[in-house]
Amino acid sequence: MPIKIMLDAGHYGKYNSGVIPGYYESDMTWVLHKYLKEELESYGFEVGVTREDKEKDLEVYARGRMAEGYDLFISLHSNAVGHEATKRVVAIYPVSGRGKDIAEKLGNAVLETMALSDDRYNYLELYKKPYSSVRPDTDWYGVIRGAVSAGSVGIILEHSFHTNREACRFLMNNDNLRLLASAEAKVLADHYGYSKEAEKEEPLPPKSEVLAVGDIVTVRPGAVWETGAPVPSFVYADRWRIKSIKGNRAVIDENESGRNSINSAIDPLYLTLWKKGEAGDKKEPVPTVGDRVTLSSDAVVYRTGRRFADFVYRVPLYLRSLSDDGRAVISTLERGAVTGAVDVKYLRSL
Ligand SMILES: [Zn+2]
Repeated sequence: MPIKIMLDAGHYGKYNSGVIPGYYESDMTWVLHKYLKEELESYGFEVGVTREDKEKDLEVYARGRMAEGYDLFISLHSNAVGHEATKRVVAIYPVSGRGKDIAEKLGNAVLETMALSDDRYNYLELYKKPYSSVRPDTDWYGVIRGAVSAGSVGIILEHSFHTNREACRFLMNNDNLRLLASAEAKVLADHYGYSKEAEKEEPLPPKSEVLAVGDIVTVRPGAVWETGAPVPSFVYADRWRIKSIKGNRAVIDENESGRNSINSAIDPLYLTLWKKGEAGDKKEPVPTVGDRVTLSSDAVVYRTGRRFADFVYRVPLYLRSLSDDGRAVISTLERGAVTGAVDVKYLRSL
């Protein structure tokens, strides 16, 4: 018997607008629950939904009751509050305590996937709420109360706050909702011991000693960025192209499909080669300050048509400074006098 999960898209119609015009919580949860259903079914879960029609409302307790015969009920939301900085992720479980572990894992997956900027407003709030002090064994929230009365476990998952600009912007992008669905499905799959057949049979990637610019790589579990921050889970779930690599520093940027860009530095020890970059893909690495470089034969002095003295084209140079606009200061010397400025596109690292 497959594990059965009932998904509840938080609201109907056009409900709960966000801080960014065009956002509606009802739109977000509708898309997210469809993606999550697909992802869960790809693992072999049996998935139900509380409403077939986005425009139709159903009151909360009745939605919870639809969990009858299901192992788990998850109600998907984004939250709202007057204080714009508030952006924590919220996971709520029944007063019985059943499902607390799943709620916590789901909440952490949302937190990691959204990867909102790291400040005191970004954390997981995990709690249960009794109806009242005289009814401590009854749940406050209608969907949870309904699910529990149907013999299931009800969880509410708030995907941060749509009153926060950063969170709202994240939730307005369907690619991000796909990442959330994938991360949440993975949590449930791990919890219930499911894995995808296709993944098990996928051939091991080719091995190679040397990673190079343009190669497609995966990131090993447990990796940290150069900054020491943990790598969020959506990064593990995708494949990334190496933008630059030198010594113990690689920068991965675009994902394989080219639809996401993260531009993050990491030790290449954490990278596993998935596919060698095609020759045509390889971009020359941009030299960095301190590099020894050579000047290409067609180089001219920065923003002029003038050529450098002939010897400058024949000797190794030092890249002494580099501006965002590509202005590179070069010198024949490591310190002291400089030779001139040139567009960085004329330089090649030695
Ligand atoms: Zn809601």
